[in-house]
Amino acid sequence: MHQTQPPYIGRFAPSPSGPLHFGSLVAAVGSYLQAKSQQGSWQVRIEDIDPPREVKGASQDILDTLKAYGLYWDGDVIYQHQQSQAYEAVLSELTSRQLCYACSCTRKMIKEQGGYYLGQCRNANNPITNNALRINLHSITHKTTQFEDKLQGLVKLDPTQIEDDFIIKRKDGLYAYNLAVVIDDIKQGVTEVVRGADLIETTGKQISLYQLLGAKIPHYVHLPLAVTAPGLKLSKQNHAIAVNKENPIPTLKQVLAFLGHPVPDHVEQKSCTDILQWAVQNWSLNDVPKQLEIQL
Ligand code: GLU
Repeated sequence: MHQTQPPYIGRFAPSPSGPLHFGSLVAAVGSYLQAKSQQGSWQVRIEDIDPPREVKGASQDILDTLKAYGLYWDGDVIYQHQQSQAYEAVLSELTSRQLCYACSCTRKMIKEQGGYYLGQCRNANNPITNNALRINLHSITHKTTQFEDKLQGLVKLDPTQIEDDFIIKRKDGLYAYNLAVVIDDIKQGVTEVVRGADLIETTGKQISLYQLLGAKIPHYVHLPLAVTAPGLKLSKQNHAIAVNKENPIPTLKQVLAFLGHPVPDHVEQKSCTDILQWAVQNWSLNDVPKQLEIQL
């Protein structure tokens, strides 16, 4: 019998730690085009689970910027700060299956042992209160050592990270990115994750969580990262400038050229919608540079 493919569901998941800069717009445009070129849905999720790193007004500014660039999302925007119930439900499931444990190691202790957590709290039976929660990866028989990225090809993960029982809830009570991102992607039915290559190493941890939760692992596409010098990413932290909302067309064209899709002169370019329409029709991952970073 002919098996139909599940519908494509993609997403863009910015953290509101500042306005969108060129690098984050690359992830927005790339994920949008991957979804729309496959008649998929493209959802937006604001990853606001880290209030200390949140910049006031950034969530709204990010959404306004997406609209200014013609990047209209499907359905309602999802806010991670409203998802605590879902995170708690998974945490209780992991706790009852003894797949996580409380860890009292301080950052200083971990630094002193070379920057790696060595699993010393795994059997310590520490109280949950006032401690971080770590996943217990020892229960996984087949460790994730590599994965297939649809753009970058086979990605071999850093061996020191493979055994790492990473934190899923911080000591201060905040949910960890790796936990929240997986729970939300499962809940939203995301079939493919398209994001910047700065997150490539987190993928191994996230795949381990999918395995523990018995959920279907999505496809991955890690787009080249915009850097100012080798290894130096443009980020909200190093004050990357916000993209221009008033005159978006030149930046949109730069982003498309960065992604290997320069807009030909004959294409109607009166609005971002014109340009995106051309880009959706002409988008191909084969034309996107297979690089982890590109210097601007
Ligand atoms: N919120 C993350 C960021 O802005 C991206 C998460 C993801 O795409 O998996 O860096």
